[in-house]
Amino acid sequence: MKVYISADMEGITGLVDAEDVQPPGRDYERGRVMMTEDVNAAVRGAFAAGASEVLVNDAHGPMRNLLPDLLDQRAVLIKGRPKVMGMMEGLSAEYDAALCIGFHARAGILGVLSHSFMGHEIEDIWLDDRPVGEIGLLHATAAAYGVPVVLLTGDDAACAELTAWDPSVATVPVKYAKDRFAAQLVPVAEARAAIEDASAKALSSRFKVPTVDNQDRTLAVRWQSASVASHLPAIPGVGKRDDRTVEVTGTMPDLYRLFNLFLRVATAITSNPPYC
Ligand SMILES: [Zn+2]
Repeated sequence: MKVYISADMEGITGLVDAEDVQPPGRDYERGRVMMTEDVNAAVRGAFAAGASEVLVNDAHGPMRNLLPDLLDQRAVLIKGRPKVMGMMEGLSAEYDAALCIGFHARAGILGVLSHSFMGHEIEDIWLDDRPVGEIGLLHATAAAYGVPVVLLTGDDAACAELTAWDPSVATVPVKYAKDRFAAQLVPVAEARAAIEDASAKALSSRFKVPTVDNQDRTLAVRWQSASVASHLPAIPGVGKRDDRTVEVTGTMPDLYRLFNLFLRVATAITSNPPYC
């Protein structure tokens, strides 16, 4: 069984503030250890469930957060950026299941460190006119490859967001949002044990495998800056809904790849790198 893990940081056990998840934040280095240990718990669960291979993609901000020497040595790590598929780099139809570790709710939701890819630049995203964030886009793209997301960990808001997309996916809340930068934490040892247990259970269960679908979907993105929205239509197929919203239609893997290009263009225009 080949398992894919996309690892973000805002939804990691014990982390609640930008200082915990962004370099050179005061607690960022400690945050890296916390992130690596949450991922290790998921990796242990995967191998306990019979995984033959676990690929981990560092999917947060600089994408150099996970500590290779602390990471479970049975897992293979993708580190650094840019990557054509960003938070989903390395995923393909050959994987049997995907796990989202350390995820957060989308922009506009009251969740710990909630945002959508670029905290200051992206106001809203829609998939077929349904509000969506990093969670829903990853779930839809993995499904298009025929790969089910079987587990998500993060704050309670992130868990609720995925359950609204797909109630069949297991979730582990490691903290309960009190505000965007405050949470009631699940004790660290308890949270990690819950992640390991849920990973083993989810991967041992008969999970539903989505059929590969190449149907066209429509992605719309509303930017804080009209400047970004005025440049993107230079890309063939990209249109404008209004001064700050662009839209494009295509299959999910193509849309996700193109969306990562949007992030590169927006970074160049605004000098604000995505922190996913
Ligand atoms: Zn992130």
